[in-house]
Amino acid sequence: MPPPWSQRLRAQAEGRRARGRERAIRPPAGADFCSNDYLGLRTDPRLAQAAAEAARNFGTGTGAARLLRGTTPLHEELEGALARWKGTGDCLLFGTGFQANATLLPALLGPGDAVFSDALNHASLVDGCRLARAGGAHLGIYRHRDLADLEGQLTAWGRSCENGLALVATDAVFSMDGDAADLPALVDLCERHGALLLVDEAHATGLLGADGAGLSQLQGVTGRVPLVMGTLGKALGAFGAFVGCDRLLRDHLVNTARGFIFSTALPPPAVGAALEGVRLAQAEPWRREKALALAARLRRGLGQDDAPSAIVPLLVGPDAEAVRLAEALHAEGFDVRAVRPPTVPEGSARLRITVGAHLEEGSVDALLAALARVRR
Ligand SMILES: *Cc1c(COP(=O)(O)O)cnc(C)c1O
Repeated sequence: MPPPWSQRLRAQAEGRRARGRERAIRPPAGADFCSNDYLGLRTDPRLAQAAAEAARNFGTGTGAARLLRGTTPLHEELEGALARWKGTGDCLLFGTGFQANATLLPALLGPGDAVFSDALNHASLVDGCRLARAGGAHLGIYRHRDLADLEGQLTAWGRSCENGLALVATDAVFSMDGDAADLPALVDLCERHGALLLVDEAHATGLLGADGAGLSQLQGVTGRVPLVMGTLGKALGAFGAFVGCDRLLRDHLVNTARGFIFSTALPPPAVGAALEGVRLAQAEPWRREKALALAARLRRGLGQDDAPSAIVPLLVGPDAEAVRLAEALHAEGFDVRAVRPPTVPEGSARLRITVGAHLEEGSVDALLAALARVRR
């Protein structure tokens, strides 16, 4: 007798296959037009050296959560470097960005509070919102980048809940569209309403702003966003995540964020590599300039408006067509991946093309030529 769950799982797998929604893990093959290694630091020998040195000095693992024995001098050094870079006053490391987002919101919000979330926010923020709602907070989803909708919801909620805390959560650069939030307007709105603002700089950290500090820096609101989340595993070439905030918020998270308290501290090699990544992101601005110039070249070639990001979506529509295009490009030596629902809204399957400093103008032009061939 097969175990009772096997029939159900097989039926679900069959359903996914029938709808062209099956996901499978595929190792890298061809020129990298799909990772988030925007600065090309992932394979930099200086990061490898820093990781090896950290392993020799502090071990390959921490063996414990930060509140036990999991803190090394490197963890504190990295938090200091990130706080200075981001201009947030203080900073707290997390195991991953997913963990940070999923754990921040329920740590800050409870009954009588509210969280307002952009409709296209990352899945980890969505899960954080759901956990906050399960803890008794009101959840409002506002239309993508629609601050009039957000303000309407904030005002309506504020009238009914005078003593509650409101939090607004947004991606800085949206991960599947490559468009950016209007942070100055969001900061103003949140300040007027006394709401906490959480900005997820996963796709902006290292890439945007004079120093690479992110969209907050590019848009001139450094120091005015109370909660700045960022990842160490994308442009910075390492692994892990952080939340930049002031001391009061940091102390609160240290005491209440379950994904921080009940999780092993980042391994020293990741922390050492991230420190070197943070240093190089600032010291070698050519990396972000090159990545953004390549993205602009690709957008121009596709007839798209420019945007402050290295993510260039090519909207296709039907799932099967997006998959066909990705496979045709794959056969020509380009690693481009199709993104289908539920990662993106129904009917908006796309190629999510990304560029990084490890690529050249010639490879972008070659991709454009291949795209022209494979698109009917
Ligand atoms: C990748 C990503 C995360 C999650 O970060 P990890 O460190 O990879 O877990 C969070 N938010 C956004 C917008 C992301 O793109």
